[in-house]
Order: sequence, then structure tokens, then C-alpha cells
Amino acid sequence: MVLHHPRWVMYDLRRLGRVDRMTDRYDVIIIGSGAGGGTLAHTLAPSGKRILLLERGNYLPREMANWDPGPVFVDGRYISADTWYDKSGKPFQPQVHYYVGGATKMYGAALYRLRPADFGEIKYSDGVSPAWPVSYADFEPFYTRAEWLYQVHGCHGEDPTEGSWSRQYPWPAVSHEPRVQQIADDLAAAGYHPFHAPCGIALDEADRAASTCIRCAWCDGYPCLVHAKADAETIAVRPLLGLPNVTLLTGAEVTRLDTDPAGREITGVQLLRAGQQEIYAGDIVVLAAGAANTSRILLRSACDAHPGGLANGSDQVGRNYMFHNSKAVAALAREPNETVYQKTLGLNDFYLASDDGRGPLGNLQMLGKSNAMAMKGEEPKLTRLAPRWSLDEVARHSVDFWLTTEDLPRPGNRVTVDDRGQIHLSYSATNQTEAAALYGEVKTIFDKIGIAAHHVLDKNFYMDMSIPIAGVAHQAGTCRFGKDPASSVLDSDCKAHELDNLYVADSSFFPSIGAVNPALTVIANAIRVGDHLARRLG
Ligand SMILES: Cc1cc2nc3c(=O)[nH]c(=O)nc-3n(C[C@H](O)[C@H](O)[C@H](O)COP(=O)(O)OP(=O)(O)OC[C@H]3O[C@@H](n4cnc5c(N)ncnc54)[C@H](O)[C@@H]3O)c2cc1C
Repeated sequence: MVLHHPRWVMYDLRRLGRVDRMTDRYDVIIIGSGAGGGTLAHTLAPSGKRILLLERGNYLPREMANWDPGPVFVDGRYISADTWYDKSGKPFQPQVHYYVGGATKMYGAALYRLRPADFGEIKYSDGVSPAWPVSYADFEPFYTRAEWLYQVHGCHGEDPTEGSWSRQYPWPAVSHEPRVQQIADDLAAAGYHPFHAPCGIALDEADRAASTCIRCAWCDGYPCLVHAKADAETIAVRPLLGLPNVTLLTGAEVTRLDTDPAGREITGVQLLRAGQQEIYAGDIVVLAAGAANTSRILLRSACDAHPGGLANGSDQVGRNYMFHNSKAVAALAREPNETVYQKTLGLNDFYLASDDGRGPLGNLQMLGKSNAMAMKGEEPKLTRLAPRWSLDEVARHSVDFWLTTEDLPRPGNRVTVDDRGQIHLSYSATNQTEAAALYGEVKTIFDKIGIAAHHVLDKNFYMDMSIPIAGVAHQAGTCRFGKDPASSVLDSDCKAHELDNLYVADSSFFPSIGAVNPALTVIANAIRVGDHLARRLG
């Protein structure tokens, strides 16, 4: 059912039983409780403004399966049942997570800042990564607040590519375990610049007894059973639950936004909850449903004033989808790797263009430790015939890395919505030359630091896996912000150019994605948008 209405019509429909609930008006309605929406609610809550946080998922259950790679990786227990379609119309199950806290319930909590260069133009073989309408200096105070809010452990000053920082991390860097320390030492001896990766976990290495985090292997890609991962639920949403001015509705899937006849103001937020349709109204409405779902809601909200979808006069809503050109590599060494928490090391020696003409290639970081079931889940074809014991042995010897190359915003890489409201994701990879070159550099590194010299197999062997279209973990860019309304959806404050009370505060706003993990930038931007809204609301 589609409703275009002044308020009295909504009341009328309610009386008729077609709309199930109307409420008082809220100051701010936030759609989605993940990195963007949850953090925004947390930023705005102290203002005392009445906030309604709408989340389509429920709480992720705390159960032993949280830390069991079989249910997590093989059965996909925490992946949504959504079906999306690729550019040829082929259905696939996207790896999206609809819970309070969104994708951060499953994330690895590697909380990197973009580099200052990422805010300017960067040239790649496939084209130009565009500049942002704001600078790194504009973002820096919000990165610092994000790092303190999400309890990031790290050491500013170690990575030569990082920008200026106004405050050290709140927690010291997580120490390397012996095998990782050896790799860090070998890298430094070979002339590279390894650094301690920024990790958002509640670990106190000085007082292990008081530490919530037990430093286990179940962090990257798993929910945290003991709530020791700094995710949006534990850090941002849970602390708000007792506040009188914040209401969280779970199981509330927003389907459509309604506007006034002129199309300048959102007048109603339609949602489905327990099979019933409800409508809510707020002075400000913020979309933070994730890059694909935010576009879906805007495109499904087409009306007379916005025939191509809400806020879409520029035809940019849904376009410029990016998700990183990433590869996981397991290097197999003869000696066993007993590391438990492996995500402590990063390397940005290939992040920027070099003086001798090599282009920017990307970031290298260590991944959560491989295990047999995760390999089965991630590489079902390759591992189908392998007995469990052989995979256990492979995993015991693996040293795991994650390679990221920037993905360029392309108008044709886009989210569209069909008549049934289903998401179609059209995507072709970019910057494959750079991604291949980064892999080449990494193999050279392995040779230099002796990983290759100890191979289990006769020849060098690395299991590498490029991430297919269903790997939407780093989705971004579908409502980019910019100064020109003809080529962007949002202005520099992340307000829709074409509407007075609609904002977007998830990863959709990225005009380019850089080559480091996106969550800290989503979080920092949500704090930035929160400050703006607090000022606007007085
Ligand atoms: C396995 C995995 C590992 C990752 N590791 C890292 C990492 O180590 N470092 C890093 O920086 N990033 C990582 N990421 C990416 C990171 O989690 C995302 O970039 C970040 O969460 C994006 O924030 P968001 O607010 O845009 O979306 P989300 O955090 O996904 O939040 C969107 C929310 O909107 C809700 N929603 C969707 N549609 C609707 C609707 N119609 N109505 C109401 N609610 C809706 C969703 O349920 C969800 O809660 C990882 C992601 C995954 C999946």
C-alpha cells in the first residue's frame, strides 16, 4: 500500500485499520542502528531531543554458536535471508547482517582512519578517485572522538602514511603474539614500516583479570559472545536504552518515506513491524540503513515531486557503489603458527604512490586466524574433497593476510530496485591492475621475510581468495556527498540537496572509499553529522 497524505489522512487510515499506529512526533528519526545510525543516536542523545531509532533486525542472540565457525561460516547463521540479484539477474545471498549494531556485530573492529591523500584526487590506471568536499583536517577531530568512543587500541606515529592526530589512542596497541612479532621484526629488517593495527576491543593487557576481552580467535567475522568487541550495539546503542528521550524499535523495517506535496520535507516514515504497517513522523529523518538499503528506501519512495526516487534529481542515488578490491591470502609455512589473535599488524608501504613512479596499491593487514571450518565456508569448491584433518593442518600452519586496493566509484556500479522492491546490484571490479600489483608485492615480501622459504609444499603456495559480489561487508558510496547538487546526493553536512529535513549517516556518503577499512570513517562522520544536527535543533 502506498500512502501520500497530509496528516489527517494518516489518522483516517488508522481509524480504518489500514495503518496500525501513529505516534507523537519525534525530533529525530534514525533508520538503522549500525556504525552510522547507532553512533548518531549516541551523539545526539545527550541533547535531550526525542529520538526514535528504527532497526529492522533484532538483538543478535548471545549463544555458544557465536564462537563456532561451523554455524558462523558454513551455515551462515547470522547472514540475512535476503535475495539480491546481480547484473545478469542471477540471485545471490548478500552477506548482510540485520541486527541491532548492524554489520559491526560481525566486523573485525580494525578501525583505521583514511589517509589525508584519500580526501584528495588519486590517479589509478582505471581512472581517478575523486576528492571529498571536506579535508582530512575537517575530519580529524571526529576521528579522534570516534577512536575514544570505540576504545581503539593503537599507536599513532608508527605508520608513516597516517595524517596528523590531535590525541593518542585511548588504549596502547595490542601486543603482537610471538609469530606476528617475528613477522614485524623481519619486515622492519627488510626495510618496510609495519605498525600496530588499530583494534576496537575491550582488552586491558595490563590487567587481564579486569579485561572483558579474553583475546580469543573469534573476533573477525564472528559476533562477540562476551560483548568485548567495540561494536555499535555495545558501544553506542546499549548505553541509551534507559534514557527517557530515546526509543528503539526492533523488527521495524522501513519501507518508504513520504513527503509533503512540494517534495521538500519528509512527513512520514512507513515501516513494517510484526506484519503491521506503521507510520512515524519526525522533524528530522536520517537514513543509516547501509549503502544498499538506504538507496533501496530512497528509490522505493518515488513520488510526484521525486519521480526517479527521493533526493534523486541528480540520478546519483544507488550509483557509485564501492566495496573494495580485497583479497584474503593464507600463506602456508612449514612451522605451525600458534597465534590466537592475529589482527595486530598492518603495513602501508604500498598505500601511496612511490617516488620511483609506482602507483598507489593499497593496504596490507593481518586477518583473524584461519581454521578448517572457516576455510570450508569461504572456499566450498576448493575444500569440498579435503578431509577435515587436512584442513586443520593447513589452518595450523597458515599465516593470514588481507589485501585491500581502492575500488573506484563508477556510475554503472549501482543499486537499483525492481517492481517488487528487490535489490539489484550491478558491479564490475575496478583497479585490478593495482590489486594484482599489490599481491605481487606481498609475495615478494613473503620471500624476503622467509615465509616462502618454509613452505609445507614444494613450491610457494598461498591460498588466495578474491571477494565475490555477495561480500558486501564494505559496501559504500551510493549517496555520495559533494558540493554540486548535479553530481551528488548529499551536501557537505550529509543533508539531501533536495530536501530540508532528510540526512544520510551511513557508508552511502563516501565519494571514494580509500584502501583501508571503512567503519571508523562511518563512525566519525556520524559524530560529525550528530554535532551538526544538535546545532540545527538548538
Ligand atoms: C564480516 C565483516 C567484517 C568487517 N570488518 C570490518 C573491520 O574490521 N573494520 C571496518 O572498518 N569495517 C569492517 N566491516 C565493515 C563495517 O562493519 C561497515 O563498514 C559498517 O558497519 C557500515 O556502517 P553502516 O552504518 O553503513 O551500516 P550497518 O552497520 O550495516 O548498519 C545498517 C543498519 O541498518 C539496518 N537496516 C537496513 N535496512 C533497514 C530498513 N529498511 N529499516 C530499518 N533498518 C534497516 C540494518 O539492520 C543495520 O543494523 C566489516 C563488515 C563485515 C560484515
